[in-house]
Amino acid sequence: MKLPFAESYKIKTVETIKKSSRSDREKWIKEANYNLFNLKSDYVFIDLLTDSGTGAMSDKQWAAIMEGDESYAGARSYYALKDSIKEITGFPYFLPTHQGRAAENVLFSAIIKEGDVLPGNSHFDTTKGHIEFRKAHAVDCTIDEAKNTELEIPFKGNMDLGKLEDVLKKYPAEKIPAIVVTVTNNTAGGQPVSMENIKGISKLAKKYGVKVMIDSARFAENAYFIKTREKGYEKKSIREISNEMFSYADYMTMSSKKDAIVNIGGFIGFKDKEDWQKCQMYNIMFEGYITYGGMSGRDMNALAQGLYEGTEFEYLETRIKQIEYLGMKLDEYGIPYQRPAGGHAIFVDAKKVLSHVPKEQFIAQTLGIELYLEAGIRGVEIGSLLADRDPDTRENRYPDLELLRLAIPRRVYTNNHMDYIAAALKNVYDRRESITKGYVITKELPIMRHFTVELKPA
Ligand SMILES: *Cc1c(COP(=O)(O)O)cnc(C)c1O
Repeated sequence: MKLPFAESYKIKTVETIKKSSRSDREKWIKEANYNLFNLKSDYVFIDLLTDSGTGAMSDKQWAAIMEGDESYAGARSYYALKDSIKEITGFPYFLPTHQGRAAENVLFSAIIKEGDVLPGNSHFDTTKGHIEFRKAHAVDCTIDEAKNTELEIPFKGNMDLGKLEDVLKKYPAEKIPAIVVTVTNNTAGGQPVSMENIKGISKLAKKYGVKVMIDSARFAENAYFIKTREKGYEKKSIREISNEMFSYADYMTMSSKKDAIVNIGGFIGFKDKEDWQKCQMYNIMFEGYITYGGMSGRDMNALAQGLYEGTEFEYLETRIKQIEYLGMKLDEYGIPYQRPAGGHAIFVDAKKVLSHVPKEQFIAQTLGIELYLEAGIRGVEIGSLLADRDPDTRENRYPDLELLRLAIPRRVYTNNHMDYIAAALKNVYDRRESITKGYVITKELPIMRHFTVELKPA
């Protein structure tokens, strides 16, 4: 008999989670102004809001925490992190920051000026926020295939090189501080970018004299997909593939809260010493001294260890097969999602489920609220709330896709939880015809409104 797949780790510490009644949840979501971010975590049974900082650290990471060196300058923990980053990414210079958006803030303070243009493949929300806050523009060059949720292609996160070249032709190099390659492409559904595509981007960047930045939060999951889907990489290790990916970049920004499996942390990697030196001033002003940035010594130690664990093939296989498992359950129930299953999440196609809710009433948010009411599961909207208003016209932007992202924390939930999530979604799916009204905004901030927005039933 063929042995079934089993996790490559066992459980050492557990945390209790609480179920609740539907009437409790009705009260709580109303008090939260129908924004899932506003819920107390105690009011959530299975929390799929994000895979960011929600992973379970290993015994080795906790041991590394005890050995953290809290010296202000030149701490051992800094050097441990430097070695780990060098080995796994190849970047010789780096600055620690407290998380990914802080890395963006420091790097972009040094390289972006008003009116600049940064082409990319579906910029992450905080990345776009940091670009638009500086009155620069993020131009999305993701392949059109990413918009068709039913299409199964191996590298749905790729950049369209034709669209990219149009941008590079249209603007002078001085106006393009970097091309932003996000791996995996979160907004398109946790979909990977192929090595061939990264090579093509790098070639165009060289031709037009612009730099490449890799927004690297899920680089290890991307490397796993390259290993398992791209010809010529089957025999390469995740670390060899990671090194090759980063060999095509001038900068990397990292949210360590994702693939490095720590609860907080980030960094910027630089190829060029001068670029590194240019950013030091901003790091000191915004984050902390250059050998700790926004991190404590113990956190740098946990991160150094997490980078090794996050790039182990067996761990990545366990993780990605769990997402696939959830996808297979949804297939069984006929629930549409962005195919194939992504690296860190399942993205339910809310437009296909709630076809009676008008787009002005936030379709994916409505589905997210319904799933919470059904079973205490918290997902997150990747739709028009997130897409926000156009910075110039202030009109609402309606993206092609309205997705409900169910992000799976690393090493946290079991496949029984996946069964529970799938069953809850099926119950919502079965009564989809009766859901005809969504929500309207009562209060919002001028940028990244989705975090704090307040809503009421339409
Ligand atoms: C999470 C994330 C960021 C921002 O990082 P934080 O640690 O949340 O500040 C940037 N880019 C990508 C692709 C991310 O997933």
